[in-house]
Formats: sequence, structure tokens, C-alpha cells
Amino acid sequence: MATPASKPKPKSKPRVGRSKLTRAQIAALFEAFRAIEPEPKGELEHVNAYTLLVAVVLSAQATDAGVNKATGPLFAVADTPQKMLALGEEQVRDFVKTIGLFRGKAKNVIALSERLLAEHPDLPAGDVPEDRDYLESLPGVGRKTANVVMNMAFGHHTNAVDTHVFRASNRTGLAPGKTVEAVEAILDRVVPEAYGLHAHHWLILHGRYLCKARTPECWRCPVIEICAFEDKVMAPGAKPSTAKSSAAKTGRAKKAAGPKKASNGPG
Ligand code: SF4
Repeated sequence: MATPASKPKPKSKPRVGRSKLTRAQIAALFEAFRAIEPEPKGELEHVNAYTLLVAVVLSAQATDAGVNKATGPLFAVADTPQKMLALGEEQVRDFVKTIGLFRGKAKNVIALSERLLAEHPDLPAGDVPEDRDYLESLPGVGRKTANVVMNMAFGHHTNAVDTHVFRASNRTGLAPGKTVEAVEAILDRVVPEAYGLHAHHWLILHGRYLCKARTPECWRCPVIEICAFEDKVMAPGAKPSTAKSSAAKTGRAKKAAGPKKASNGPG
């Protein structure tokens, strides 16, 4: 008897990891962040959704302060795709030449402006489509950038995972993952609705100013009782609080410091 041909297995979705924290701990962690900064804002300056998109594209592997310095004068003359195209790639390049990788970024700003105008001619000036997949398809726009725009311009509860969010999520145990995608997937699942709008900004601020890459300032951390990180630093200049072998520490420190392709915060 012939063996029936086996049906192709349906593709299974990648499994989403788990938080190391309990629901109550996660709520307490965000409550602590909220108590310090109830309305966190991104640090990238912009005047509308389009300039936010451009600013985030320019911010890859650059500081927000450096980007703001260049975009202030740029956005004063070009705050819509129409005006950016009228300026032209050479002049855009000149405005952003102090930012790393400026040639490629200027090219992308022009290319994405062309796409927006050609594909969404009816959008009000300075607006962008409220569509993460579409935004992600634009030149120079990755998942993180699209998530920032969806969050800041449209109020979606997206979690843009930059190097600070990645580190803070891993160290605290809130969303442990080896890749930004894995961390984002856990955050999407475990961040309570009430904190969803500001979650990624709180994590950026926490990672940037307190849970720093080289030396986390655990001695003044508001979530130290919740945090699952083993190597807490309990005083300025102190050694990590556990005394494991240096090889183990090096491996763990590297893992906690950031994903392989780190980038700076999205504002
Ligand atoms: S206790 Fe230390 S490692 Fe944990 S979140 Fe705070 S600063 Fe980061």
C-alpha cells in the first residue's frame, strides 16, 4: 500500500521568549519609571511626522544632539518631502555632513521623499502614512525607525529596540533576548497597556543615563529591588557584586552590553 504523501507542515511562528519578571514586578518597574518621568519625550527635534522620520533615519549610529545640530537648519528650509526634493541631494548632504554616514543618509532622505510624494500624493504636507510595513519599506528605514514613528507620531504602543532598550531589557530581566527582534517580541507581549505608550522611552532613558553599558549605576537605581542582573554595581567605583570567574563575567558583560549591530537611541 502506498504511503500517503505527508502534508507540508505549516510554518510555525518563532517562539516568543519570556520575561524573568512577574507581572507585578513589571508593573512596579514601569511605575518607578513613571514616578520619575511621567511624560518622557524623545530627544530628536522635529516639527511633524515627516521630519521625525528623517531625523530618525539620520540618527543611526549618531547622537541625538549631533543630529539636532544638523536638522535645526535643515528643517527650517525643508520640512516636507516637496521642499526636501527642491533642495536636492547635494544641498541635503551639505546640511548633514557633520553626521556619520551622511552621504548614504542624504541619498536615503531624497529617495524616501520621492517615494512618499509619488506613492502618497494626497497626504497633507509633512505627514507620513500610518502604516509600519510601508514605512519599513522606505529607503534607510528599518524596523526601529518605523516603530519610533508609529509611536511618536501616531501613538501606537510599539517598542523600538535600540542599544539602550536592548541592554536595559536584558539586564533587568524584563525582556531577555539575543536579538532586537526577540526583545521587541517579549516587550510587545509583557508591557502592560497602561505603560505601552511610553515604555520604550523610559527604557531608553534608563539605559542611557543609569543602566549604562560599561558601569550600570545600580547604587542609585530605582528598580534595583526588581532587577534580575547578577553583576550589580553597588557604589561608584565598586566592583560588580558577584565574584564569578572573569571569563564568565566577560561573556555576560558582552551579552548584556548590546546586540551585535548596536545603534543609538531613537530620540
Ligand atoms: S540595578 Fe543596575 S543593572 Fe539593574 S536596572 Fe538598575 S542600573 Fe541596571
